[in-house]
Amino acid sequence: GRGCLRFFNDDMNRITQERVALEDALRHALRDGGLHLHYQPQVSGAGCRSLYGVEALARWTHPRLGPVSPAQFIPLAEECGLIDELGHWALAEACRQMADWRRRGVAVPQVAVNLSARNFQNPALPTLVADLLRSHGLQPSDLALEMTESVVMDSGRSVLATIEAVHALGVKLSLDDFGTGYSSLGYLHRLPIHELKLDKSFVQDLANSAAAQALTNTVLRIGDGLRLVVVAEGVETQLQADFLIARGCPVLQGYLFARPLPAAELEPWLAARLAA
Ligand code: C2E
Ligand code: CA
Ligand code: CA
Ligand code: CA
Repeated sequence: GRGCLRFFNDDMNRITQERVALEDALRHALRDGGLHLHYQPQVSGAGCRSLYGVEALARWTHPRLGPVSPAQFIPLAEECGLIDELGHWALAEACRQMADWRRRGVAVPQVAVNLSARNFQNPALPTLVADLLRSHGLQPSDLALEMTESVVMDSGRSVLATIEAVHALGVKLSLDDFGTGYSSLGYLHRLPIHELKLDKSFVQDLANSAAAQALTNTVLRIGDGLRLVVVAEGVETQLQADFLIARGCPVLQGYLFARPLPAAELEPWLAARLAA
């Protein structure tokens, strides 16, 4: 009835207004330094005591709402046309931080930046990356870009060309959430990928799922066969780490080792780790 429709409209209005307000806040945060990157260590080697690299993860604290999860604000940025700007910001901020670590002799071998599928649809991406590396005095091998399978699957020719161009710079490409998305393996050997990230959903089920164990073994064998570095994400327990190490997984990442940390907290973590 009439009342019902009014109620529905009011509700929709409220939801739309909240959304527009959140978009606005995100736009301002992007421009006024309200977004930050945290860095999560990726470890390798005997006793997991070597640092392989760090993954940069975006953080946003809304002035009124408090911390907003990237699982919420990344899709928002994609929908409201802010994702190019956010991708550019993340790349620039990670390069700035990496250059700072280099200058001060903090031994971080590489920083991996997450990009959305949309970011690879921007043909200016390779130039942008090259400019950032140059202006910060970084080597291409200092940087890795993480993308999900969705980039590869709905990629037209221009996206492939962009991926090739990034690779040609010497920047490493990493396939995120491997095994969760589309399940065609055919693209793997056609893409200049350096790294596979074993999705945390498999890692988290290792203790009680034979299927998760089988999938993990398979991903590790694919990595071996195609000479890709496999990075297991979401490692929370020693049991999971032991399983992965026993099967030759070269790089581990997860709360067992460290949460994503502000840059200032990464240094003491590293010092303690390397001294251990
Ligand atoms: P992702 O790239 O798959 O990142 C891994 C997520 O797992 C991160 O969540 C990380 O904090 C979390 N994580 C790390 N170790 C563990 C663990 O041991 N256990 C569990 N349960 N979780 C762990 P976060 O930081 O909330 O990010 C969520 C997603 O948002 C990311 O998933 C990524 O897809 C996206 N994202 C984050 N930062 C950016 C960015 O700068 N650009 C883009 N395009 N996406 C981003
Ligand atoms: Ca990632
Ligand atoms: Ca992931
Ligand atoms: Ca993910």
